[in-house]
Amino acid sequence: MLIKFGDGEVYKSQGVDPVKKICRRCGNNSRKYFYRYYSRFHGSDVTYCLKCVSIGRSDSVTPLTAVHVERAVESCRYHLDFDLSDGQKKASDRVVQALENNENLLLYAVTGAGKTEISFEAISLARQRGLNVAFVSPRIDVVKEVYLRLTAAFKDARIDLLYSGVKVAFDHRFTVCTVHQLYNHISHFDLIIVDETDAFPLPEDSQLMDAILRAATEKSSIILMTATPSKRMINFAGRENVVTLTRRYHGYDLAVPEIIRGSADRDIQKNRLPETLHMLIQNVIAQNRRVLVFVPEISMMQQLFPLIREKYPLSASVYSQDHERYLKVDSMRGDETKVLLTTTILERGVTFENLDVIVLGAEKFNTNSLIQICGRVGRKVDDPTGSIWFMAAHHTGSIRRTIKIIKSFNKGETAI
Ligand SMILES: [Zn+2]
Repeated sequence: MLIKFGDGEVYKSQGVDPVKKICRRCGNNSRKYFYRYYSRFHGSDVTYCLKCVSIGRSDSVTPLTAVHVERAVESCRYHLDFDLSDGQKKASDRVVQALENNENLLLYAVTGAGKTEISFEAISLARQRGLNVAFVSPRIDVVKEVYLRLTAAFKDARIDLLYSGVKVAFDHRFTVCTVHQLYNHISHFDLIIVDETDAFPLPEDSQLMDAILRAATEKSSIILMTATPSKRMINFAGRENVVTLTRRYHGYDLAVPEIIRGSADRDIQKNRLPETLHMLIQNVIAQNRRVLVFVPEISMMQQLFPLIREKYPLSASVYSQDHERYLKVDSMRGDETKVLLTTTILERGVTFENLDVIVLGAEKFNTNSLIQICGRVGRKVDDPTGSIWFMAAHHTGSIRRTIKIIKSFNKGETAI
């Protein structure tokens, strides 16, 4: 069933119960996420839900309407320009098995393992049987990237794409969307693949996890994919349903970060480019490579950027609210940008060729972020490795854990 505005049968007479303070669409019952105002048009107060307003307003004066979508069989063949590695193939078989048995699965795969392609066989089988499929992620960047890869592989399939403000909708049988969009689907999808399950805000927001469960049919399969699983994810799938993939698709080891002790803060505050940072960047440029410099705070980035720009004109900086964010990321793929300063916004979902990484103030990042950041390096088969430098004022548990996890992946072991 799909919640649709304006047409269809009435699902709930009000989107929001203004007395009990509950949103019937997203399940929000936290008072701080409701807004009330007087409406002249209705001649009464109107309360609406702030939690799910990004997908259309759910309020106390408008009913929620719903439509039922008939299932339909589709041939849904796909084509890949390469063969899956043995590891990918085994993992793909397990995803198919989970689909057959209506089980949930956790795919714990190293960054750059080629997780997306591992789901293709199960997606194809599901659609051939007329089952509804959703590929979702908390991150818009990931959703866009996955959509491109799916449309390239499943050339004849009708794939819906939904994220804030963007709607390419056919028949809701094969949908790529952000997790938030699932608030509009009830008992609808038979196979749900959740990519980057550990990414903000999914782990912090139990309502979003509830939305996934509500969007799934009774006999469904939910496949969680992540490089950094939490205990909760493992419990969700069950330990016997955890599939691990410790090798990247190209078979090379993950790059292990090198730690450089020292703080860059003082230099930056005095408007000086830290000498170590300068040398590292120089070294990267001399080898005709490019570098992502991760910075822990936007304020530090704003101070540092002019200092870098002075020495390296082919540089840019990017953060989540930056309107030119996508343009700047694209310029890093070409030759216009060689040094890109960034917050954790680029810790996942991006791939650049010939890339090295520097993390400033590494002591301020958590393990999940550091693992993702390291995962940016060596993703391409013709550039399978690179350098990662952590500049840190002191060692932290997060830094130690990151290195331990990467080294165990390289030995074919996992930390769980
Ligand atoms: Zn809501």
